[in-house]
Amino acid sequence: MSTLTLRSPLSTMFARMSPLGERRTRKYALLTFTVDAGLVFTLLVAVQSYLPEQYQASESIAGYVLAAYGAAKLIGQLPAGYLIDRLGPKQGLFGGLGLAVAGQAAMLLAAAEPLLGVAAAALYGLGAAAIWPSVFNMAAAEFAEDERARLSAGMTVATGAAVAAALGLGLILPPSFPYLAAITFSVCALISALLVAGQFQNARPIRPEARAGTWRPLAWLPLLTSPRRSAFSLILLLQGAILGALIAVFGSYGRNTLHISVREELLLFAPAAAGAACAVLLSGSLADRVGRIPVLGAGFLAITFGVWGLSASTGSGAVVLLALLAAVGLALAMPSASAMAMDLSQSGETATLLGWFLTMESVGHAVGPALGGALNQAGGTAPALWLAGGLAAVAALIALVPTVWAKTPQIAVGRSPLRSVLAFSAKGGLVFSLGFPVIAVYLAWQPGSQLYGQMLTHGPRDRMEVAITFDDGPNDPWTLRIAETLDHYGVEGTFFTVGKNAESHPEIVRSLVARGHLVGNHSYRHHKSDAVVDPRYGELWKAEGAISSAAGVCPAIYRPPNGFHTPWQLHAVASHGMKTVTWDVIPRDWKDPPPDELANRVLESVKPGSFILLHDGKDTYEHTDRSATLNALPGIIEGLRAKGFQIVRLDKLLSVPGYLESCGQSK
Ligand SMILES: [Zn+2]
Repeated sequence: MSTLTLRSPLSTMFARMSPLGERRTRKYALLTFTVDAGLVFTLLVAVQSYLPEQYQASESIAGYVLAAYGAAKLIGQLPAGYLIDRLGPKQGLFGGLGLAVAGQAAMLLAAAEPLLGVAAAALYGLGAAAIWPSVFNMAAAEFAEDERARLSAGMTVATGAAVAAALGLGLILPPSFPYLAAITFSVCALISALLVAGQFQNARPIRPEARAGTWRPLAWLPLLTSPRRSAFSLILLLQGAILGALIAVFGSYGRNTLHISVREELLLFAPAAAGAACAVLLSGSLADRVGRIPVLGAGFLAITFGVWGLSASTGSGAVVLLALLAAVGLALAMPSASAMAMDLSQSGETATLLGWFLTMESVGHAVGPALGGALNQAGGTAPALWLAGGLAAVAALIALVPTVWAKTPQIAVGRSPLRSVLAFSAKGGLVFSLGFPVIAVYLAWQPGSQLYGQMLTHGPRDRMEVAITFDDGPNDPWTLRIAETLDHYGVEGTFFTVGKNAESHPEIVRSLVARGHLVGNHSYRHHKSDAVVDPRYGELWKAEGAISSAAGVCPAIYRPPNGFHTPWQLHAVASHGMKTVTWDVIPRDWKDPPPDELANRVLESVKPGSFILLHDGKDTYEHTDRSATLNALPGIIEGLRAKGFQIVRLDKLLSVPGYLESCGQSK
């Protein structure tokens, strides 16, 4: 093999990524690295660890500092952009860096009075608010349209490196590392950013009317009425919210869903981080070649599938792959979005629009963790992940509406085959992801689907034992007549009781328990929608309350109404130490077939370990005629025994406790 054939594709690849190796790109990457490294080291390491450790500051100070920084940056970006449009981006950059250095240095005062640290963080945030609109403004002027995504990718990589370096330093240094030295270190990083800033050219001329002193503070607002800019604002908001929500649930996903330590979780996500780092570089090059929109659309779809998949998976292999998919999606979307912010801000008010776009992203960074955290608190990681994936699906949908983007400046690539493939696959993926809710509902209906959490459809298949179960009681007089028939044959049955019915007929529930039958939990009001809309699934506790006040027991086994289940509902059941069961033999007794036929249906499909589903009531109705079930019961019991089956209670079939030791929420 000649070296020529080896070199040629490689050199083509490097040629495509060329702006990354250039001097003009390096200064952007270096500036990004120094600014972000100082930021992360101060806010995530020094304030969170050294300050409370060494100065007995309350742990909540770190939260206030972070909030003050974020709020000041959020509020400051738009006015800063406006000023930059009047004064010039280089002045904006120096001003922003100057404020940031002052704010960082003032963080030293937190050693004397922690609250001063909060004020210093606000000053720091104001500085940061001016830095990024200035930087993007100069970048947009210095880089042609088909180079900007590669530049954004380079800056994203610099941010990643800064985060890794600062957190790595935090891991290496002992908790006794002096807080004052840590802050001084961050101040030095920012001062070196000031030195790098000297290399930037003040690319854009100051606006003539601004010089003349015309004061029109809202001149930029009409620019936002363009469908492209408003749609893009929404995309940035969603992107910020997705990222924020994912970060907010990261720890609890490992702890509560995967049941592993943070260290193990980091290990599981390491391939995703590595994949994302590679994908960022490629995605910049891709977005410059084929345009931003197909790359954005494909990226958000990858996030949707990855994150939704994670909400339902606990196997290590699946988690590694799905996390990789989601991370690559983020890596595709982010540089494209930054490049697009530069593209779409080109106007008489470039920096102001940049300030607006950055504000939208910051709003997402605030809203995403709040929503994700609240859902996580209420119903576990699954609903929070469903939210993040759903937001990504919405972003993909916006990216794929062709009419909005019709006038978006396109990279002069003609009809690149790659572009067609990307756009086509993104559209195909979107059709699929819009179909996803249908698939999700279908899976929620399947009594045997384990995708949303563990559910048992039968017991051990190696013993000749089965359980006969009755749903939807107590229902006067049928429940007790059924119980009497069971007693006559010496069979212990299992009754999945509806809480509301138990409230109407507590004496029947009491009698079932006294006769030695097992009472299970079958929700309070037998509505499927409760499993969808209530992340805490309060139905479980309400039913438990009704059953325990009727008969003094708290069922340890739960059966979802109609077998309809959602990830958060199963999470609520499992976190209460209960088991969810459905069935594997369903003879449709509610259709009132003749007794022989009903018995035959059972005997034809029964297997060792089967849960046989019959009904002693109907939802929450009173006095529903269940004579069909009652009359078939002797045939069923005799037939099962003739086949050699022993009929046992469900808890005995599964060798698990039938009742909890104590009622009430366990967490
Ligand atoms: Zn039911």
